[in-house]
Amino acid sequence: LTIGVPRETAPGEARVALASDAARRLVRKGCEVRVEQGAGERAFISDADFEAAGCHIVDRAEALASGAVCTVSGLDASGLDGLASGAVVLGLLRPLDDTTAVEALAARGATAVAMEMVPRTSRAQRMDALSAMSTVSGYRAALLAAFRLPQFFPLLTTAAGTVRPARVLVIGAGVAGLQALATARRLGAITAGYDVRAAAREQVESVGASFVELDMETADQEDAGGYAKALAEDEAARQVEALAKVLPDYHVVITTALIPGRAAPVLITARGVAGMRPGSVIVDLAAANGGNVEATRADEEIVASGVTVLGPTNLAAEMPTHASEMYGRTVAAFLLEFLDDEGTLNLDPEDEIVAGAVVARDGEIVHPRVLAALA
Ligand code: NAD
Repeated sequence: LTIGVPRETAPGEARVALASDAARRLVRKGCEVRVEQGAGERAFISDADFEAAGCHIVDRAEALASGAVCTVSGLDASGLDGLASGAVVLGLLRPLDDTTAVEALAARGATAVAMEMVPRTSRAQRMDALSAMSTVSGYRAALLAAFRLPQFFPLLTTAAGTVRPARVLVIGAGVAGLQALATARRLGAITAGYDVRAAAREQVESVGASFVELDMETADQEDAGGYAKALAEDEAARQVEALAKVLPDYHVVITTALIPGRAAPVLITARGVAGMRPGSVIVDLAAANGGNVEATRADEEIVASGVTVLGPTNLAAEMPTHASEMYGRTVAAFLLEFLDDEGTLNLDPEDEIVAGAVVARDGEIVHPRVLAALA
């Protein structure tokens, strides 16, 4: 199999789809890995690093004309034009939020693998690109909040007096939320987490945070796949009210609540923000999906009632070295899972991982959820 790694073209995208360790594993398996010159530059992975791993440094056209093309955030129009017929393109294609990227790949006759759609099963754990990137963004969200907060995170006892620790609330205790909690605690904050899934309590407590009980009754909102279900309208309204009561207790709030395939639930309204103390910081990690905070503007920083609200949409790209290493390992694990000894990529439609992640096959959109989003 020839595997191409083009340089990413999306604005602000500093990651590369394979780092040298993942590329080396593919080379050892007999693949020819062709990396576009400078593809890893912004992630501080040099052409020499790739060459040492056995990759070929090529021009863009050659990287694109490969059997499998590995990307972080898909291909732009010029990338699409360079694809070989029957190419397999892997990337974080966001097919449920915006079908245009997948439609464009299908129109070129390609097979599209949406890495964020890899099912969360134990067999697919090594290919779980979504968790890998959520780990990075959760970590960065806590650092961003600490940096923007006009006070310390830790308790300090100094000659200039004692400094009280910051109190941090994380709403949504999935992969990103738990990493944000763990990171805030490592920085010395007092941490608390909240989620609508009952199973989240134990996970929140396992990273040293307390679990916040809201002043409302809700049934466990976990579906069979382990994801949260959307709350009924009246319950959602009560949740907003109940959350608004606890927000003033915190200096930092990091929100991560998502429901797969839907706009993010709004959990904090203008009134909730107004109740917080001036100088507090909110980092809304759901910004790319509309935001958990009414005031959030994607990729902007706004100040509302003295509270700074940040809505970063691609924090993983801001830590590109490790993000590329982690993402690249998930991409390599996917390819290695389906490569046979002759070096052919067999994407068996009956396989549950393939059925979950392959959204277009040989030019046809095949994934039922993407088809539903198109209808
Ligand atoms: P996610 O990014 O889809 O959502 C983030 C969190 O927001 C979730 O914990 C969700 O319960 C929560 N949430 C949604 N609506 C909410 C609301 N109204 N109020 C408060 N919280 C709300 O989550 P994720 O990180 O992708 O994880 C989803 C699930 O998948 C979790 O159960 C996680 O443990 C599981 N998971 C399993 C594996 C695996 O088995 N390989 C890997 C990763 C994650």
